[in-house]
Amino acid sequence: MRLRTLPALLVSTALAVTALSTTAADAAPQGPRKVTIGTSVKDRPIKAWRLGDPAAETKVLVFSVMHGDETASRTILRTLRDGADIGGVDLWVVPVLNPDGVARGTRYNARGVDINRNFPVDWRRVKHAGSRPASQPETRALMRLTDRIDPDYVINFHQPLYGIDTTGSRSPAFADALRRHLRLPAKAFRCGSGCHGTFTQWFNQNHDGTTITVELGRSPQRSYLTSIAPRGVLAALGATR
Ligand SMILES: [Zn+2]
Repeated sequence: MRLRTLPALLVSTALAVTALSTTAADAAPQGPRKVTIGTSVKDRPIKAWRLGDPAAETKVLVFSVMHGDETASRTILRTLRDGADIGGVDLWVVPVLNPDGVARGTRYNARGVDINRNFPVDWRRVKHAGSRPASQPETRALMRLTDRIDPDYVINFHQPLYGIDTTGSRSPAFADALRRHLRLPAKAFRCGSGCHGTFTQWFNQNHDGTTITVELGRSPQRSYLTSIAPRGVLAALGATR
């Protein structure tokens, strides 16, 4: 479901403006394009890169470090960004959604909010959920980008529960392919006190694509992050490199 209006994304360069213009970007693929999709509470830029083929039919969003103390997976996304050209898929990556949390070494953003409790679906006024639905700039940045892309697949990386939740996936085949290629066990993840205000809930209510939560272990090996996992993501998507 594509929204009627284009979001007011902040852009960092003239090139980034081109990347957000559907017609221009679709006509002229030329390597990764960087876009600043928003700024954190402490004014740190939240950056996305558009990789692959903008004209490809399959649209994909991969993001990580929604929780600032779960930083391993940003290496997977940076490896995708920095390597050879990717084909067969229109791939967006957001390696660090919560830069303030990284700077502070905490799960939360600079206002003590868990971004994955701040989305405007089943939002509850509880600790770490924010003052109101979508009150945090990091939440809104991810919503805008997701609405702009309307991805067929979303992969969001976390730690440290070590597994992929394939239960109830809209695309069991993709979930299983990702599980196999990322060499992780299938597990059912349940929010501690019931899910409320999560990205997955918001995405499922507003988009038709498939979103999958991947939980890496506590300390993945570097070779996994720089080789096995990036290749696994592309293999599961049927992308080429
Ligand atoms: Zn997490």
